[in-house]
Amino acid sequence: MKQFDYIRAGANSDVTGTPDATIIAGGTNLLDLMKLEVMTPDRLVDISRLDLKQITPTRDGGLRIGALVTNSDLAADMTVRSDYAALSSALLAGASGQLRNKATTGGNLLQRTRCYYFYDTDQPCNKRDPGSGCSAMEGANRLHAILGVTDKCIASHPSDMAVAMQMLGAEVEIETTDGVTRTVPLSDFYLIPTDPAVETVLQPGELITAVILPAPAEGRQTYRKVRDRASYAFAMVSVAARIKVTDGKITQAAIACGGIGSMPWSDTAVEDALIGQEPAREVFGKAADILVAEAAPKEGNAFKVPLARRTLIATLKELTGVQQ
Ligand code: SF4
Repeated sequence: MKQFDYIRAGANSDVTGTPDATIIAGGTNLLDLMKLEVMTPDRLVDISRLDLKQITPTRDGGLRIGALVTNSDLAADMTVRSDYAALSSALLAGASGQLRNKATTGGNLLQRTRCYYFYDTDQPCNKRDPGSGCSAMEGANRLHAILGVTDKCIASHPSDMAVAMQMLGAEVEIETTDGVTRTVPLSDFYLIPTDPAVETVLQPGELITAVILPAPAEGRQTYRKVRDRASYAFAMVSVAARIKVTDGKITQAAIACGGIGSMPWSDTAVEDALIGQEPAREVFGKAADILVAEAAPKEGNAFKVPLARRTLIATLKELTGVQQ
């Protein structure tokens, strides 16, 4: 393992004043990447002692989740369990109990893809080594994305938590290198991989300080995850959804999908196809067609197209009580 400097941050400014540093919090992904020499930082700034561990109500009835709140604590929070149930479910569907005890909210958002070639330094990978090529294009690509891909990278985004947060309308609170706070909708936080090494709008030296959830929305919500085994596996397809039905018609719909996109995947056209309609299998089928209309599968992940359709339809049926 390459030698590096280690700095324990005592204040946010220790991070924002060190733009060339790599941040470590729970370390559940970064330490693996360093052991494999996929990431070889010169300087680590440990933010685990910063005062970013609170979950607090916001003035408009929402929730501010500190960047260092662990996945376990967030999943168990009584307000999250009652008012943002899809988020609690998504967190509990991710990783293992031990990992959730260490993994943080900010780190979960910034975890790297599990593309096999990204972790194998003997293989070309545009994300790890820009310009070297993408081994997954013609290689093993079963885990990979079918939406939001480019000819440079087809890696899928691994987070369950981010999918639920995006469905809930979350914003990311960021402290800039000037010490100013800015917020970015989570739906604008991730980037299409035109430059696969640059994954988010976060700038060097910026620090995620919190995730802000809006006030709880009406309707029923859930998180459905399809994976190769019952636990400790990344999503092949997942759907976070909230549906409100009033007088027999869908009046509100919010949907985000995991496992199929280069980022948590939302498409307002899918939601628009539901709003104003009576809940029915045919309506859900049309929305599912829209979801996968732009899909660009490879040989190994073509199964995700019908699987994403079926998972979305099943989720909508569960939320609306449609039987057939
Ligand atoms: Fe690298 Fe992306 Fe290609 Fe995987 S899909 S090998 S992460 S460039």
